[in-house]
This record gives sequence, structure tokens and C-alpha cells, in this order.
Amino acid sequence: MRGGGSVDVVIVGAGVAGLCAARALARSGASVVVLEARSRVGGRTLSQALGADRVDLGGQWVAPYQRHLHGLLRELGLRTFPQHHDGRKVLEVQGEVRTYAGKVPALPLLDLLDLQWNVWRLERWARRVPREHPPAAPEAAQWDAMTVAEYGQRFMRTPGARLALDIATRAIFAAEPEQLSLLHFLFYAHSGGGLMKLTEVEGGAQAERVVGGMGQVSERMAAELGERVVLETPVRAVQQDDSRVVVTASDGRRWEARSVVMAVPPALAREVEFSPALPPERAAVHTRMPMGSVIKCLAAYPRAFWREAGFSGEAVSDTGPVRLAFDDTSHDGAHPALVAFLLADSARAWTGKPADARRAEVLAHLARLFGPEAAHPSGYMELDWVAEPWSRGCYVGVMGPGVMTEVAAALRAPCGRVHWAGTETAVEQCGYIDGAVESGYRAAAEVRAGLGAQAKAG
Ligand SMILES: Cc1cc2nc3c(=O)[nH]c(=O)nc-3n(C[C@H](O)[C@H](O)[C@H](O)COP(=O)(O)OP(=O)(O)OC[C@H]3O[C@@H](n4cnc5c(N)ncnc54)[C@H](O)[C@@H]3O)c2cc1C
Repeated sequence: MRGGGSVDVVIVGAGVAGLCAARALARSGASVVVLEARSRVGGRTLSQALGADRVDLGGQWVAPYQRHLHGLLRELGLRTFPQHHDGRKVLEVQGEVRTYAGKVPALPLLDLLDLQWNVWRLERWARRVPREHPPAAPEAAQWDAMTVAEYGQRFMRTPGARLALDIATRAIFAAEPEQLSLLHFLFYAHSGGGLMKLTEVEGGAQAERVVGGMGQVSERMAAELGERVVLETPVRAVQQDDSRVVVTASDGRRWEARSVVMAVPPALAREVEFSPALPPERAAVHTRMPMGSVIKCLAAYPRAFWREAGFSGEAVSDTGPVRLAFDDTSHDGAHPALVAFLLADSARAWTGKPADARRAEVLAHLARLFGPEAAHPSGYMELDWVAEPWSRGCYVGVMGPGVMTEVAAALRAPCGRVHWAGTETAVEQCGYIDGAVESGYRAAAEVRAGLGAQAKAG
């Protein structure tokens, strides 16, 4: 199998989506192979040792309402624990550091009222966007013609409300408000259960973490699949005809199958040569959905000094390089840590720079936010996702104005024997690990139905 061969289904990509599809298909009796470009599984999730702890360099949080991922965690015997969030939060605006308690940010009253009014409006609009097909919203054309930044300029009256929208957009998408279509933003909010849910810790998208790291999800699925997962095998070409599909790796090895599941982000599917050529709407998914930009940094400390000083570890900043930070201490409290995100413009400014310079700047910024002890970690790690050749950024593919109305119908529609998975294709929790799970199961069900139909016809 490692040298090529013949199977029912080839799955391209051993991220959560691809492994879920492979596992579901294998369990239903299909023969499968998963071809993965990297020398590891997990894609945009990765857990690695930092001192005596295991930390997540990619996706880490799970929300209580993310039913697909919770089901999978249970099946795999993995436990979650609550994200620490007790204590004061930090907001830095143009270099001025403020702290606040509770959920209401340290902004003037008028700005808070403006913000609340706009959150209500955006939540109401988001609910009007059908998750299965966003262009069916009555106002879709108008919303897709506008960026999130333009929305802020037109509908928000105060600088504080606009600042909060900018900060939330960067935190949720790792993209600048100027890059994002309002329709994509509203769809994403509806898909994720509401805009506020995406920003919140308690009861929201940052509510829980996995004991021992999210990377175990893929590691355990891959262990179950065994030799059916083939690493260091970038797929270069997918060729189909009436009777079969042939998948060719960059070193020339070939696998023949009845169906293929492409479980890679659109920006990476673009690199694969399809024959016959994909329909223009599908090709547009690949060319018009670039990834957001994130560098994730973890700093371990002998003591959780920020907790002792009454801070939760949560911070947002418009000043940079760190745009967002959280407490990242292990479930048992034994390994205190902070996690810091460089997002969007800040990640693009810092990608490719010397790691030492980046580390110095990140630690100096954490010290400004939480006090001088933050500058002296006992351990430090980072992953520049923008520079990862098999991700090209993260967390997720984003759409600029005009893209959603053009490509939505092609996001999940199979092209002959080629099926599409990956979090970007999810209806619920698009962009999240939960969405990746949903997409893998949906693609597996499509393939099973297709194989059943072929068996009857044969
Ligand atoms: C820093 C960071 C923080 C995040 N935080 C969270 C979070 O807290 N909670 C959350 O739910 N989500 C989070 N996410 C997003 C989450 O990780 C992703 O939504 C999810 O992992 C996507 O899974 P996937 O299987 O769809 O895609 P991927 O994980 O990208 O898997 C695709 C796989 O395909 C492989 N591949 C690509 N091209 C080819 C090719 N030509 N041939 C063979 N293989 C190929 C890639 O190497 C990769 O392994 C975060 C992501 C990042 C990077």
C-alpha cells in the first residue's frame, strides 16, 4: 500500500477531517488509504512537549455545544477540562494598558452602548444567513459586497465599538476586517452558534481544552488506521474517468480507487492538478479562499504569577505583536503557561523573521501586559503557521467580498468521483475542529452512498 495500489477510497490529508472520513469508511467495510504530505498526522492540530507538559501549537479549544467533536472525544477516551478565566482581563489600546473584571471591556459608556447595539444587529443578521447556502439570505448580495471594516465605518458611531469589532475579527478569523466579506463573517457567526459564542470562554468557543492535548485526537485515529495512513506523500495529481480515479503522489507512486476524498484546505487543493479540469466555480473555491495568518507562541513559567496578581491571563491588544493571550496552564495546575497569538497583519509582519527576535518581542509584550516576570519563562515554543508549506496560514480559509455568492454552491458539491472535506466545507462550526469532524463524516456518507449505487449498477 505504501508503494501505491488499489483501494475503494483514497483520502488526501490526515488532518482531523481526513482521518474522520477514513475511520468512518473503514468501519463500514471499505478499503481506504490516507495520503498525507507531512511527516505527521493532525494538520492544523499538533501537541508537543514543552518541559514536562504537552501543549497545543495548533487548535486546542472545544465548546460545550460542539457535538461532533465531543462525540469523537468520548469515542477516543479523551477528557476535557475548563479553560481558566477567573480574574481581571487586560485590554491594550494604542499602547495604553487597561484592566477590567467580568465581560464588559474597559471602554467609555457611549462606546459600550454602540457596541452592544451593533452586536445585537450582527447577531440578528447572522441568523438570517442560511448555513447550508449563505447566498440564499435575502440581503446576501448587499452583505457580500461589503467588508467587515466597511460595516464598522457605516454602522458604528464610536471608535471603541470599531476597535472591539477589529479585535474580535482578528481573534476569530486571524484576518483583518478589510480582508473579510461581511456575508462570510455573518455565515461564520451563525455556523458557530452566534458571534458572542465565538468570543467567549465560559460556555463559548474557548470553554474547554483536552487533557494531554488536542493532537491526540488525530494520533489515536491514525493508530487505529495503522498502515492505511501513509505519511510524507504529497498528492500532486487526481485523474478520473467513468470507471475509476487515479491519485498520483509527487514521487510518482499511484493509487487507483473508486472515489477520492480531498480533505485539504482550499488553498492547498489549488496545488493539485485535476484532470479533467474542475468546473470554474470549484476552481474559484481554491483560488479565492486564502488562509488567515497566525503565529502561536507558548511560554511556560515556574509560577502562575498573573493568577497570583489577580489576572485571568486573558488579554487583547491592538498594539502588537501579541493580539490575543490566554492562560494555558495544564489541567492539574502543575505547568503554568501563557499562550499568545500573533494574528493577521501582525503575523504577516513577523513571519519569516528570526525566531530569536520574535521571541524577544513577544516576551517583552507579555511583560507589558502581565508584569516583568512574563519576560523570563522557563520554556518557550512557537509555530509560525504562515510559513508551514502544508497549511500556508491558519486558522481557516477566508473569503473577501464577492466570493461567497460566487462559490458557495461549489463548496461541498462532489466533482464526479472527487468529494470535498475539511473544516472550510462544514455547515456547523465552520473553521473549527468540530467542523472538520462534521465534514469528514459527511464526505464519508456521500462516498458510501456512491459506492452503494455503483455496486447496485455493477
Ligand atoms: C494556531 C491555531 C489555533 C486554532 N485554534 C482552534 C481552536 O482552539 N479550536 C478549534 O476548534 N479550531 C482551532 N483551529 C482550527 C482547527 O485547527 C482547524 O479547523 C482544523 O484542525 C482543520 O482540520 P482539517 O482536517 O479540516 O484540515 P487540516 O488540519 O489542515 O488537514 C489537512 C491535511 O492535509 C495535508 N495536505 C495538504 N495538502 C496535501 C497534499 N497535496 N497531499 C497530501 N496531504 C496534503 C496537510 O498536511 C494536513 O495534514 C486553530 C488552528 C490553528 C492553526
